[in-house]
Amino acid sequence: MTIIQNAHVISPGIDREGQTIVAKDGKIVQVTSRKVAPKKSDTVYDAKGKYVMPGFIDVHTHGALTYDFCDAAEEAVFKLAEAKLKEGVTTFLPTTLTVSNGELKKAAENARKYAEAGMPYAKIPGIHLEGPFINIKCCGAQNPEFVRKPSIEEVKGIAKIYPVKLISYAVETEGGDKFAKECFKAGIVPSCGHTGAKLADLMKAYKNGLRHMTHFCNQMTPLHHREIGMVGAGFLIEDLNTEVICDKIHLCPDMLKLIFTRRSLEHVQMITDSLRCSHCKDGYAFSMGGLEVKLENGEARLVKGGNLAGSTLWMGMGLKNVHDITKIPLKDLVRTTSWNQAIELGMGGELGKVEKGYKADLVAINPRTWKPDAVFVDGEKRI
Ligand SMILES: [Zn+2]
Repeated sequence: MTIIQNAHVISPGIDREGQTIVAKDGKIVQVTSRKVAPKKSDTVYDAKGKYVMPGFIDVHTHGALTYDFCDAAEEAVFKLAEAKLKEGVTTFLPTTLTVSNGELKKAAENARKYAEAGMPYAKIPGIHLEGPFINIKCCGAQNPEFVRKPSIEEVKGIAKIYPVKLISYAVETEGGDKFAKECFKAGIVPSCGHTGAKLADLMKAYKNGLRHMTHFCNQMTPLHHREIGMVGAGFLIEDLNTEVICDKIHLCPDMLKLIFTRRSLEHVQMITDSLRCSHCKDGYAFSMGGLEVKLENGEARLVKGGNLAGSTLWMGMGLKNVHDITKIPLKDLVRTTSWNQAIELGMGGELGKVEKGYKADLVAINPRTWKPDAVFVDGEKRI
């Protein structure tokens, strides 16, 4: 058994100090205010009052520690998973860039190898394809050279190698509305992203089930009073699950406040969208899908044109930022770091809560630094 003592439990709807969490066979079997006497064979961790939350689920992350998921190198996904675990992320979807079909298949193969190795760090139930079916005018830091029209056949070819859980594409592209339906049939969550869509374009895909928006506000049509665009759609339509990068760079603090106080928290998902420069020092320069990027003052931007190219954010810091800005209680905010993601990915009954019966995927966050002090995966203390 694993016993976590003196935990300040933060879980959707719950904020309780002085808790003991007991895990057995990978699952939480007890959360109690009583002391539990450990046996010699038990793993014991004294949280000393730190926040113990559901392990973060990051559905959108490309890289860290100089590695990118689209690198041909097999170790890239191992290094990414190791870095994510250090951030308190226990489940994530390694995310591809707009690259060639061969490179996408190679990334899927590398994900499969990580799974076959028993996923020694954070877990990856599948991958997120960000592109290549995006709007060439809304590439951001994605390489326009590899943009192509939606093809479910191409996606199925990749999913045969390793499950595809989420796909970000532009709904207004030819066949974009039907593509949403085809994704669902294949067990994939379709998401609108890197898009120049009007509200009417989105509604066609919405009718076919689309309920997810990739990095809300970034690389999508802004709100205009005669065409409310994708940003307006996010506010008009409550049940769109909006990914949000909470680094205060991709969205200014006022925009974060607007989103978290005006949208239903049931449909907001914090992401990092972290790049290979995450966990690296300022001045680090690299190529992303063939485009040069440099990290300065913690901001990763294209050398040519200055577009933002993803983040160096850690999930815990995103949570702190939003908590500081909005003053929303952590027990409400914490559903946006794990449980909402789990529900959409079909794992809402097993991940995202610190409650009996849920998997013991947990992070102990130091409330002074907002960095993890300990991370548990399936009840095993891995950090
Ligand atoms: Zn991204």
